[in-house]
Amino acid sequence: MRTLDDLDVEGKRVLVRVDFNVPLDEDRRITDDARIRAALPTLRELRSRGAARLILLAHLGRPKGRDEKFSLRPAAERLGELLEVEVALAPDLDDVPEAEVVMVENVRFFEGETKNSSDLAQRYAALADVYVNDAFGSAHRAHASTEAVAHLLPSAAGRLLQREVETLNGILEDPRRPLVAVVGGAKVTDKIGVLEAFLDRADTVLIGGAMCFPFFKAQGHSVGSSLCEEEGIDPARAVMDNAKLELPSDLVAGREFKADTEVKELSEVDVPDGWMGLDVGEGTAERYTATIAAAGTVFWNGPMGAFELAPFAAGTKAVAEAMAATDATTVVGGGDSAAALAQFGLADRVDHLSTGGGASLELIEGKELPGVKALT
Ligand code: AMP
Repeated sequence: MRTLDDLDVEGKRVLVRVDFNVPLDEDRRITDDARIRAALPTLRELRSRGAARLILLAHLGRPKGRDEKFSLRPAAERLGELLEVEVALAPDLDDVPEAEVVMVENVRFFEGETKNSSDLAQRYAALADVYVNDAFGSAHRAHASTEAVAHLLPSAAGRLLQREVETLNGILEDPRRPLVAVVGGAKVTDKIGVLEAFLDRADTVLIGGAMCFPFFKAQGHSVGSSLCEEEGIDPARAVMDNAKLELPSDLVAGREFKADTEVKELSEVDVPDGWMGLDVGEGTAERYTATIAAAGTVFWNGPMGAFELAPFAAGTKAVAEAMAATDATTVVGGGDSAAALAQFGLADRVDHLSTGGGASLELIEGKELPGVKALT
């Protein structure tokens, strides 16, 4: 993959695809600017290496055509504060101000973006001399601003995309051992590719979240009214005898999926009728914590339980705290595990917090990311 080391940017107009898909509240204020901050090293480097202008492309949400609710104005303003420079907003590709740093409006306002249109890519390319992709969170999509445009200009990966790819590939290719993968969340079918990749390469795979119920059902346990994905049972059965796989041995159950429900600790994994398993139990949390403490490298994706509900947050919190405390190299694959780390105030205590949930999982699964391939 070509990086900024391979690209001459001095005096050039640089088109930079960034991932500014930030969460906004009802007043369209940014509630977490981590993704904007994550792009700063690349943007600062380009400016210090004498780039004439930076023209930024990004998407926000899933607008159907032009819709002010999905405007990138809040992101442009926040970037201006962080870079300490005025960031102009270009409403359209035919109307790009002559500023030193320009944020083009949401690329998903433009016909053809998500279809990887070469016409649209030509219009992007006409704005600049070289192209840098730093949007790891969008690298698993073949869109005009992440894929087609990369073929039209001298192009390279920015520092964030480079670090994400190098870190995640490093886990697969040459991890400090033991390599432990902690995989949780709601659905086993979303993560079966990742599970298989880790059963191949890791030393231990710890399972949590609602994902454990298809395994338990396949083993003949009762799951009560737990969230148990039927289509997950066969894939779970196919891998459940692998000696590297560890499942919960106790659970915390609730009557309903809400914080003020009746709660019951189960010392084993059969869930009685009328109850749903909503977190791993204390014994499981202790076992998983000890495995993480003894690891050389830990990859974590997906919560151990319904961590948004206080009575069912302990398992996820224990994993988050173990990640923060261990001497192992710790990598978190974005999405809900990142939200959990933030909830417990531990986001800056892991070595690498991926900015791309979907992209990081696809990379681990061994899939080629179109946005990366186009730079190779
Ligand atoms: P995912 O997006 O697949 O990583 O799933 C994250 C979601 O799974 C979170 O919103 C959790 O609340 C939910 N979750 C985790 N464990 C359970 C469980 N045992 N029962 C129901 N939902 C769960």
